[in-house]
Amino acid sequence: MIYTVEKEDLKIGVSACLIGEKVRYDGGSKTSDFCNLELANHVVFKSFCPEVAIGLPIPRPTIRQIKKNDMITVARPDGSGDVTEALQAYGKKVASMTKDLSGYIFCAKSPSCGMERVKVFNPEGNALPSKGVGLFAQEIMAANPLLPCEENGRLIDPILRENFVARVYAYKHWQTVEASGLTKHKLTTFHSQYKYTVMSHDLVAYKNLGQLLARADLPLADMAQQYIAGLMAALTIIATRKKHANTLAHIQGYFSKHLQSDERQELCKQIDSYREGLIPLFVPLTLINHYLLRYPKEYLTKQAYLSPYPDELKLRYAY
Ligand code: SF4
Repeated sequence: MIYTVEKEDLKIGVSACLIGEKVRYDGGSKTSDFCNLELANHVVFKSFCPEVAIGLPIPRPTIRQIKKNDMITVARPDGSGDVTEALQAYGKKVASMTKDLSGYIFCAKSPSCGMERVKVFNPEGNALPSKGVGLFAQEIMAANPLLPCEENGRLIDPILRENFVARVYAYKHWQTVEASGLTKHKLTTFHSQYKYTVMSHDLVAYKNLGQLLARADLPLADMAQQYIAGLMAALTIIATRKKHANTLAHIQGYFSKHLQSDERQELCKQIDSYREGLIPLFVPLTLINHYLLRYPKEYLTKQAYLSPYPDELKLRYAY
């Protein structure tokens, strides 16, 4: 990795029930194996259960989102025990205290923690077609629009899982650079390290971010703010096989004149096989990293794309 971070310095917010805390309405948890068995080896989780934090007991009657006159409240199915304001106030409080987080994993479907597609009911108890956002999660995301966020359910998908972890490490890298005192040189260096990463997600953003850094009329603070907003938005766009294959071909082009003919052919073959869905991404990447050891190219070895997070997570083995 171009940027290494100690486990204790990488903090991820998480719904408490996902890491085994028995805080759910029924006294149980909703343990996520990915969080507990894999990600926990590399990050420190900061857990929050908003419903317990606002004073609801364990176990407790279920609560839900209820829509009346375009207003959402969170209360028991009969409308009693309204905790809307308490959840919103606690969300604001946590959001202001957790600027050091580099990501957040929310528990899906919860009226408090759900990131999207939360069930909404009318006062008569019928589910509405429109979906909501958990009131606590809404406050966290509104106060930290750059923060990489995901739900436990979506993290089962290997592509979404890889995407989330890559965003977390990129954001943590940015937070570290920013905390060290941003300069134009640091900003352009950071961008040069993420060029192939951005290319694999969104070619339009790749061009726009380059043009942004070339502007002479923008104060550094404004440029940095626009840059990181553009980068984090680009990284949420899923990198498809086609886009990865295109990026791999660009990397190959950068150092192919150093390769022997048989080495070049082997790499072309692997990139094609990856594009066609026959092999996972780590196969051509392993070959590129192998060639880079033999024919070092400083510009390439500093690319986050080649090693965006600890290899032990094996996130590029599955697609
Ligand atoms: S989903 Fe959120 S509110 Fe519900 S038990 Fe888990 S942490 Fe608590």
